[in-house]
Amino acid sequence: MIAINSKLPNVGASIFPVMTGLANEYKAVNLAQGFPDFPTSPKLISLVNDYMKKGMNQYAPPPGILPLRERIAEMTFNLTGKSYSPDKEVTITAGGTQAIYSVIEALVREGDEVIIFEPAYDCYAPNIRVHGGIPRPVELTPPDYKIDWENVKKLISHKTRMIMLNTPHNPTGTILSKKDIDELIKITKNTDILILSDEVYEHIIFDGQTHHSMAKYPVLAERSLIVSSFGKTFHTTGWRMGYLLGPDYLMAEIRKLQQYAVYTCITPIQYAIADFMASPEHYMEVKSMYQEKRDYFAGLMRNTRFDLLPVAGSYFQTAHYNKISEEGDYDFAIRITKEFGVATIPTSVFYTSNADHKVIRFCFAKTEDTLHRAVDRLMKI
Ligand code: GLN
Repeated sequence: MIAINSKLPNVGASIFPVMTGLANEYKAVNLAQGFPDFPTSPKLISLVNDYMKKGMNQYAPPPGILPLRERIAEMTFNLTGKSYSPDKEVTITAGGTQAIYSVIEALVREGDEVIIFEPAYDCYAPNIRVHGGIPRPVELTPPDYKIDWENVKKLISHKTRMIMLNTPHNPTGTILSKKDIDELIKITKNTDILILSDEVYEHIIFDGQTHHSMAKYPVLAERSLIVSSFGKTFHTTGWRMGYLLGPDYLMAEIRKLQQYAVYTCITPIQYAIADFMASPEHYMEVKSMYQEKRDYFAGLMRNTRFDLLPVAGSYFQTAHYNKISEEGDYDFAIRITKEFGVATIPTSVFYTSNADHKVIRFCFAKTEDTLHRAVDRLMKI
């Protein structure tokens, strides 16, 4: 073997494909990895097909095709009141994960500190480290996973380059409140701290609550890069289509690097989504569809011994299993996949400290039939 010096020596495979692999092996119902098991719109599929047939099969411009960037800017303006320039401030990415990677790659340097809130989506800390940055985690705990801003203040120094936020939050399903936004404004005032805001579940918010996008608050928007994802909104996680919003001078740096990483994203799908987004109901109806699913799943889960935690957004439901077992959450998740045939995600993997609060995450982006089959099995535990 030729010796190499790993850039991420302590990182193994992401939990998502691991649990999906185990679910497939044991023929378990897969409520682990977050992806819908129902189809996307036939109209969207035929638009992709049409554009392929029309010959839109060659490179798009690296920032994405202009009509799609225009539709995104219109949607963002209508939902937040913030106007982004389609030309300079909107960029199409190969999914939310690549957008996050490119922002960190462009803006975090050796020794820079980045504040993250844990449990944190699993790509955040490795992406910071691989670029020489230092993740500074703030631990959030169940049942409400609220941010203690005093703890955040203690971590802020001249080394703080960035604060990474995620609302609605994966894996907990919590959202930032107006009070959190006020604290964030206070904490970042008169600093050079950038914000990377992962808002990929922006359209999935429950019970009439409000999504507080960074775009809504001018003093935050001017320091924020906002990530979103068509995979989540149009049930197409395998298409790898996301986008990034942010001030032009920051976006210019990100685009420089992105062009040499992915060059550009898939062309016919960009044209198809641009057409599809011309009808706002295609993204506005996502909220009520998922509200029904969340309520349906929560209703069924009342017949089990799991204790559900509050969920305000995203397509995830977390639950305590204290009444069932004292096992660690990882072992518990593996065991119920093998023995009871339902795969879930343990939340300890999202903490640097591996804090085990005996909470697992269920994905309810599934048909009623799938949810029913899963809960029938969970009732036996
Ligand atoms: N975002 C999805 C989840 O949290 C999965 C993404 C992935 O598999 N990388 O489950």
